[in-house]
Amino acid sequence: MTRMGLLTSLTLLAAAGCGERSLVDPAAERVFYGASLWDGSGAPAMENAVVQVAGGRILSVMAAPEGVDVAAEVAASTAEGADLSGHYLIPGLINVHGHAGGTWSEALEVSYPDYVEGELRRYARFGVTTVNSLGGDGDASFRIRNDSWSESAPGRARLLVAAAVVVGESPEEATAMVEANAERGADWIKIRVDDNLGATSKMTPEVFGAVIERAHELGLPVAAHLFYQDDAKALLTAGADLVAHSVRDREVDSELIGQLRETGVCYVPTLSREVSTFVYGERPDFFDDTFLMSDVDETQVLAVSEPGRRESIRNSRAARAYRISLDIATHNLKRLSEAGVTIAFGTDSGPLGRFQGYFEHMEIGLMRESGLSMEEILLSATGNAAACIRRDDIGLIEAGRRADFIVLSQDPLSGPEAVRAIESVWIGGTRIEDSDKTP
Ligand SMILES: [Zn+2]
Repeated sequence: MTRMGLLTSLTLLAAAGCGERSLVDPAAERVFYGASLWDGSGAPAMENAVVQVAGGRILSVMAAPEGVDVAAEVAASTAEGADLSGHYLIPGLINVHGHAGGTWSEALEVSYPDYVEGELRRYARFGVTTVNSLGGDGDASFRIRNDSWSESAPGRARLLVAAAVVVGESPEEATAMVEANAERGADWIKIRVDDNLGATSKMTPEVFGAVIERAHELGLPVAAHLFYQDDAKALLTAGADLVAHSVRDREVDSELIGQLRETGVCYVPTLSREVSTFVYGERPDFFDDTFLMSDVDETQVLAVSEPGRRESIRNSRAARAYRISLDIATHNLKRLSEAGVTIAFGTDSGPLGRFQGYFEHMEIGLMRESGLSMEEILLSATGNAAACIRRDDIGLIEAGRRADFIVLSQDPLSGPEAVRAIESVWIGGTRIEDSDKTP
């Protein structure tokens, strides 16, 4: 039990001892009650849950005791009540592989910091409360990252940053970049070990080995973009800490499964990233989806709809190849999940045409189509995601953690569409404005 949870329990015991019956913690600023709570740990849902919040954190979580009128007790307290009867409460979604600020350009009227913050507000409106940005983060993103973890409610998704993606022809060149990123305050080191379907040269094992070693000396975990199973194996042998994309060249074998299980390294499928490589050859169906179109960057819709761009995608060998890669990735996800590998939710959203917030919901649908259960998918985006990015303060609705959660009008375990039925999103115990996305 956390210290805060213990104090809450002692307070309750003391209240009971005095003959008082108040359920409400005197410190509570807000009490959410009546919801069916799925807490992100894999435990079964708790009916009629009472979640008390103060200072952006969860004070306590309990089922309403039999015979207690919670609404009346909340009304008699100094806390604000939120009656969630008939609703569902889950932790906010954590995107273990996203990006922020990548589509900003100097031609835009908005400044880079405002742009990044706007993107993080959009993520939040879709229920994504933390984004692990794996590369391309500008200087302002570090300040935004710091603000997002302060105790005051940030009003947008929390952020972690990998700074510049590390590249280099030699170990010296690459480790110098690792050091520069560490100096700037990066949370992760990100590398790409990929030849882009044979079009470019690949970072060599000598270089990524040196990068991983130096990053670990500096206390930083390494996230690896990869495509091929052989590279995944070499990267895991060298000590990589996160597989940032699916293995997409072949069916995963027992050797890779064994490595992932032994190391405990999390595997991020990013299936929707694959979709983005070919889907804009035509006008995608989801441009008729009001869930996206009511909260979308119109300039991106126009950019991906440009006729010349469509045609080049239709004629693109890479687009055809990635369509096949999606099938392989989908199959591998199911196989790895069944084998007990920890899956971490991620989309690679942020670049042009990978719509932040919406692509996370597309990813949930694709993961479901792969055969994962809703519980497995939600675990990958909550409790397991938090562990994969080494944060013990988010991902679960439990005492001591940050009060980041989503209120839904439908049972999230019933299917992907229920996770879209967002009534409200709360980060640090404060409601995100315009977060009612129920269609
Ligand atoms: Zn990425």
